[in-house]
Amino acid sequence: MRLATAEINLTALATNLARIKQIAPNSKVMAVLKANAYGHGLVTIAQHLQGADAFAVARIDEALALRAGGLTKPIVLLEGFFEASDLPILLANNFETIIHDEHQLAALEQANLDAPIATWLKIDTGMHRLGIEPEQLEQFYSRLKATQNAKQDVRLMTHFPCADDTKNNKTLSQIQHFSKLVGDKIEQICLANSAGIIAWPDSHGDWIRPGLMLYGVSPMLDSVGSDHGLSAVMSLKTRVIAKRSIPAGERVGYGGRWQSQEATQLAVVAMGYGDGYPRHAQEGTPVVINGKRYGIVGSVSMDMITVDIGAENDSVQVGDEVEMWGENLPVEKVAQCAGTIPYELLCNVTPRVSYQYIKDKK
Ligand SMILES: *Cc1c(COP(=O)(O)O)cnc(C)c1O
Repeated sequence: MRLATAEINLTALATNLARIKQIAPNSKVMAVLKANAYGHGLVTIAQHLQGADAFAVARIDEALALRAGGLTKPIVLLEGFFEASDLPILLANNFETIIHDEHQLAALEQANLDAPIATWLKIDTGMHRLGIEPEQLEQFYSRLKATQNAKQDVRLMTHFPCADDTKNNKTLSQIQHFSKLVGDKIEQICLANSAGIIAWPDSHGDWIRPGLMLYGVSPMLDSVGSDHGLSAVMSLKTRVIAKRSIPAGERVGYGGRWQSQEATQLAVVAMGYGDGYPRHAQEGTPVVINGKRYGIVGSVSMDMITVDIGAENDSVQVGDEVEMWGENLPVEKVAQCAGTIPYELLCNVTPRVSYQYIKDKK
């Protein structure tokens, strides 16, 4: 009996990429694959994104894993390189680097390289995480143009902190600020994450950087993937391993956190925080068994969860499949019940879960 399983629907992945291209038809796609492709499996996901123009990751090891997996598209390092000794690795593997501060620029200028590296200059237009100050642009631009170690076409990017909130004007002012800075000398620009792609069409520059939406999940505060024509790629599933009858007034699970108000039945489900299911999922967080939603009760344990299926429930049996999130239950909804964001739930799926890749699923 297969227990904790992440079913990865590769047809949905392809459909989501097509949907992204439909939303931003004039932009090239830099598919964001950091953190094991948001928990979906780095190399396999990359192999099934033939239509992407480039890949983006956060760490050099992630980029090397893509090359080791035989992927040949350009790979952009979203945090750039970390020390000068990384530069020959970048060059040998055709990695493109973000330049976000003086240390990186100086290291690049001083390196002794056989050929130039492709660079993206990152400007901080208001996120205040990585990026040079707008006032530093002239200086960084001319120094990149001057060094033999950087390819001649300097490209420019920035990032949005609040694009998921359509009522927040910050994104629009960032877009306007950025386009003033770019002027007419920059050939290629890249601004939009998934939320930018969905909600801020003015941010679709030459390139877009979709992450979450590739996996069929909405980045917006108040919607789910299907509202944007996206389909869930991951369905996290397991099975019922026991069915119990509980009298009224009994306390269930660690700490006795939940007490039955009336006699009921519980389905014990083989899934816990040891699989990456959030321990903070509150009472009533839905799961789907045989097409019907039920709420979890009691504490999430390492390996198990208890689900209240109600008295005299004949439709749930030991061995039945349980969907924790996915095709029939948006991960956005589960994230909300656990006080977190879907990004975290997807990334947190643990190696105990077996991955099953499915093609040609309707
Ligand atoms: C992770 C990341 C993205 C992708 O963000 P999504 O919200 O998942 O689309 C884009 N750009 C940068 C710089 C990132 O770090």
